[in-house]
Amino acid sequence: MSGIVPKLFVISGPSGAGKGTLVARVRERHPHLGLTVSATTREPREGEIDGTSYYFLSDEEFSRRVAEGEFVEWAHVHGHSYGTLVSEVTSKLDAGSSLILEIDVQGAFQVKERFPDAVLIFIKPPSLSVLQQRLVGRGTETAESVATRMANAEREMVLADRYDEVIVNDDLDSATDELLRVIQKHERN
Ligand code: 5GP
Repeated sequence: MSGIVPKLFVISGPSGAGKGTLVARVRERHPHLGLTVSATTREPREGEIDGTSYYFLSDEEFSRRVAEGEFVEWAHVHGHSYGTLVSEVTSKLDAGSSLILEIDVQGAFQVKERFPDAVLIFIKPPSLSVLQQRLVGRGTETAESVATRMANAEREMVLADRYDEVIVNDDLDSATDELLRVIQKHERN
């Protein structure tokens, strides 16, 4: 027996905290970590692919799927709906590997209710001003979207202490090491 138990990990943190980059880097070193594709009603950004980046749905289609009970969790984030489909979670967990959901704080608490063994990990930026610089520097958001994301960031940071683990993404290499260490620690428990 290897003693490794597949786990459901939930990663949250303000937009621009570096969740996506950290998860991608950890998956290079831990290839068995599965990732789910979320559904959203927001418009695709340049280069995003339907079914890979997200399942891009109309408002009507999203609401229909909510009514049919097709989501493990869903929430309104930055003015759009985002959610994790039951089909994404069950198919990948059944495959016997750990799974990472990269979702907002509201969704994270819904997942914890449904799967109490899920491990909630919060990624914090070093400060709100660094976060703002990163969001503006990334060049994917309008000024209005940056403002919305900054307002949400302040609200989300307050909830970090309800998470099982908190990682500050100051230095990318150290934060990657820390995230990998945390994941492997929980897989051994
Ligand atoms: P973005 O629009 O930048 O791709 O994502 C914005 C935020 O939506 C992310 O910070 C992420 O936490 C959240 N998000 C993405 N997918 C989901 C999901 O399936 N459920 C929930 N609740 N939030 C999500």
